[in-house]
Amino acid sequence: MERTAEYIWRNCLGYIKDNISTQAYKTWFVPIKAVKLQGSVITLQVPSKFIYEWLEAHYIKLLKSSITKELGKDARLVYSIVMDQAVGDKEAKHMNIPSQNRGAIENPGVTLPVRIGGDEGIRNPFIIPGLKKVHIESQLNPNYTFENLIEGDCNRLARSAGYAVAQKPGGTSFNPLLIYGGVGLGKTHLSHSIGIEIKDRFPEKTVLYVSAERFTQQFIDSIRNNTKNDFVHFYQLIDVLIMDDVQSFSGKEKTQDVFFEIFNHMHQQGKQVILTSDRAPVDLQGMEQRLLSRFKWGLSADLQQPGLETRIAILRQKLYTDGIDMSDDVVEYLAYSITSNIRELEGALISLLAQSSLNRKKITVDLAKQMIDKFVRNTTREISVDFIQKVVCDYFDMPIELLKSKTRKREIVQARQLTMFFSKQMTKHSLASIGKQCGNKDHATVLHACRTVSNLNETDKRFRTYVEDLKKKLTLNT
Ligand code: ADP
Ligand code: MG
Repeated sequence: MERTAEYIWRNCLGYIKDNISTQAYKTWFVPIKAVKLQGSVITLQVPSKFIYEWLEAHYIKLLKSSITKELGKDARLVYSIVMDQAVGDKEAKHMNIPSQNRGAIENPGVTLPVRIGGDEGIRNPFIIPGLKKVHIESQLNPNYTFENLIEGDCNRLARSAGYAVAQKPGGTSFNPLLIYGGVGLGKTHLSHSIGIEIKDRFPEKTVLYVSAERFTQQFIDSIRNNTKNDFVHFYQLIDVLIMDDVQSFSGKEKTQDVFFEIFNHMHQQGKQVILTSDRAPVDLQGMEQRLLSRFKWGLSADLQQPGLETRIAILRQKLYTDGIDMSDDVVEYLAYSITSNIRELEGALISLLAQSSLNRKKITVDLAKQMIDKFVRNTTREISVDFIQKVVCDYFDMPIELLKSKTRKREIVQARQLTMFFSKQMTKHSLASIGKQCGNKDHATVLHACRTVSNLNETDKRFRTYVEDLKKKLTLNT
């Protein structure tokens, strides 16, 4: 086999893949293309400056050993970086730079380091000299700082990309920066952190946080009031635009059009755009292709569910800022029990604090347990047979005593059988125990009831409605 750049790189990838997590591999290495091999110099094309910087900072040793393995100890690495593309440019610009990390990778022939990116200030075309700059409130929540945003594996990439943007708004290759992830994972918080940090470093910059929904509303109002030009003009004054929850643009073509216009203008002027979305760009349905392709110019970074360690760290930090003392076992209990997202975790902590102050009770693991059972959705709380009996009897409008009696009247038998069926499905009680609680029946009766309900559910339309209605009621109330 001929030793092409691709061939060499494929071998390197095989080695790299074995040495890092799949997630890291996909994020940092899959997007790389090997474009040239000349002697022992391999040129790798990386899609952005950010990826290049990250590789140099975190993976240089791995790159070095894999490339040296393939090309020998004289191996050298050159990056071809796809640079920020100005609007209207048809072809992507590339910049070739050798690996800067000469200590780690033996690269004696290289004359470097090269600086990428210019430092010229960004001019605001709307500020006419001598005219006072309009003041625009940033709408930032001062609590949502980087400092308060605990770092974990779940948010490392997004957080550091955000931080980099804040150091050089509009001057990095992650423009736009798109942060995506499920509810309560910190998208809004992170986007504010970036804004706050920028305001701190560059007080003269106009930063604006706005939710996509609010933007849509403003746009609709401007159409109604015949002030669309003002609306667009206003947004063109912004240096750093943070647009939260862009998934809500889905299906709103006119809003997308105007956003497209504003976005292009900003991008052209080297202004920074930060977007958040509750789903990945590929899953943004009802979004115009041209807008989606704009989103791809920068960097998309996702937020994932935090691991246990991170959840504990987040709780500790909240307690610390609020000056509250809580024992480690309670903190750990909370962090163990609530895994879905950070908002729920905070909610549980607040409920617990409220409970303890209301009842003047000490915060113990027991209290935390009770509180979670009572207040926190999304933790699987066991439904009791009592509860099922109550829901079924309410539904058929009959007293519970009848259900527990020996009566063989058809409606009663049916309600009893439904109770048994759901008890089997939704509780951990044995057949015998369910029977005992439903009028002292034996386990065979309960088994028979479960079969009867399944059969009727398939054959009898009206009965199926009962089953479905009851199922809804039972799951809604938990
Ligand atoms: P999203 O916008 O993704 O739905 P938010 O940004 O509103 O989520 O975050 C929900 C809550 O969790 C906020 O109160 C936020 O401060 C908190 N939070 C999220 N991530 C972190 C983190 N890494 N460290 C500390 N608090 C966090
Ligand atoms: Mg949000």
